[in-house]
Amino acid sequence: MTAICRECDRDTADPVAVALEHAASAGGRVVYLCPPCRRLLGIMPLSEHPEGSHGFVRYVREHAP
Ligand SMILES: [Zn+2]
Repeated sequence: MTAICRECDRDTADPVAVALEHAASAGGRVVYLCPPCRRLLGIMPLSEHPEGSHGFVRYVREHAP
């Protein structure tokens, strides 16, 4: 499966789901990043989100405020 990276707009063969988009009508589109962009931005994979995160973007600990 490939997806477009939200950050660099390139096709990636190894997309990482990082968030759910909460569009008013569509509800729950998955946002993907390629692995290099995800690491660069320090964004937590959706699969590692704690329960109740509601799919909003989260950052890994070292990038937290
Ligand atoms: Zn990218």
